[in-house]
Amino acid sequence: MDNVTEKLLQCFGHRRFKSELQERAVRAIARGVHDVFVSMPTGSGKSLCFQLPAMLQENKVAVVFSPLLALIKDQVDHLTKLKIAAESINSKMTQKDRERVLNDLRSMKPNTRFLYVTPEQAATGTFKALMEHLVKYKKVSYVVVDEAHCVSEWGHDFRPDYLKLGNLREKFKSIPWVALTATASAEVTKDILANLKLLNPVAQYKTPSFRRNLYYDVVYQNCIQDEVGDLVEFLKKNLKDEVNVKPKDRSAAIVYCRTREQTEDIASMLTKRGLNCLAYHGGLKSSERVSVQDRWSNGEVPCVSATVSFGMGVDKASVRAVVHWGLPQNVAAYYQESGRAGRDGKPAFCRIYYCRSERNAVDFLLKSEIARSKTPEQKQRCKNAYKSFEIMVKYCEEVRCRHKTFADFFGEEVPQCITRCDACTDERAVRRALDQHTRRAMN
Ligand code: ADP
Ligand code: MG
Ligand code: ZN
Repeated sequence: MDNVTEKLLQCFGHRRFKSELQERAVRAIARGVHDVFVSMPTGSGKSLCFQLPAMLQENKVAVVFSPLLALIKDQVDHLTKLKIAAESINSKMTQKDRERVLNDLRSMKPNTRFLYVTPEQAATGTFKALMEHLVKYKKVSYVVVDEAHCVSEWGHDFRPDYLKLGNLREKFKSIPWVALTATASAEVTKDILANLKLLNPVAQYKTPSFRRNLYYDVVYQNCIQDEVGDLVEFLKKNLKDEVNVKPKDRSAAIVYCRTREQTEDIASMLTKRGLNCLAYHGGLKSSERVSVQDRWSNGEVPCVSATVSFGMGVDKASVRAVVHWGLPQNVAAYYQESGRAGRDGKPAFCRIYYCRSERNAVDFLLKSEIARSKTPEQKQRCKNAYKSFEIMVKYCEEVRCRHKTFADFFGEEVPQCITRCDACTDERAVRRALDQHTRRAMN
């Protein structure tokens, strides 16, 4: 047992690392030679990547930027439970509390090991003076930027105040920085490295996007006689269970739809054809939504037809099929939504039922949003949204490895797909279907 694994147990109560990647990130951050960028999915234990290394440095404090007071409270509470001194400076605290925190940080040997701040707080005079002091007396172990995608206009939670953090990086060159996020497209990653002004070379630890157990394909709605029949057949084929499976581990499916009406239509059509399906959308009462999610999660109903609001906080491992009835919003959303399939590592299937007329409708909508946008920033964001949508259209309208589109999007090497998508399995058949689709769409 070395120092690192010892601290893992002693401070955090974990016998082993959650993944090899987590361990590698921890060790790189602990070395403290490079700035480190960590991109791992939600729930994979990113906090530990900086918290453990910070615990290896006695009498130093890690300054952690986090976008929301609620997130900060969770982390501070979690650390406090572990008997690790974590504090925050924010606008909500009493003067007395603030003095207590500041006094400790200004003392010779501070007890505080983690100081959590919002980017807005970081811009205040109090914080700037404190930071100068801490750096001058070599009391900072790391500067950490959590939810680092907030510095990118490509991200979904852009926060202008996050941009200013880059100035701190320039000012205090001697301290290693750590940036972490769960959403790292190539564009977002580029923005994080550039806007936070991370010092080259940045050591990067990323979970690869390729999931070998997921098979991806696209079906063109105008090329089949009976779309709903095709959908039912596809779902039934994938929902076959072996005997003696516990209800909650039974096979399940999600059909994502664009509108509330569609979710209702699909639910009633599937149920009529012998496949029990419940609709889920924002128009339901919250008690109804909870009930639908529960009945699906515990294996009572195999299928849910839902708007994209369904899925957050869902961690059913035995999802065998995720269907998009129509075009997903963009590649990031599609990767995330389809990625709810096959969490147990067993084979699962992700399919889009594509429809050109719907594409045209969305195309029109996004273009008019660009035209209507008032500020340059808003315009840029709308343009970004349009570009992301275009990649999704290409995904559906090109004969090309589906996994490769994801890998490109995340800035990774080409995965060895071979048989894990329709384009790699039978390129000619996909080309034929696409040609037929295009001919019919033009008529
Ligand atoms: P993320 O920020 O990546 O979404 P968190 O840092 O919030 O994830 O961690 C998710 C959960 O994983 C937490 O409950 C945390 O305690 C737990 N966890 C982290 N590392 C380990 C580990 N090595 N062994 C077991 N559980 C861990
Ligand atoms: Mg986190
Ligand atoms: Zn492929």
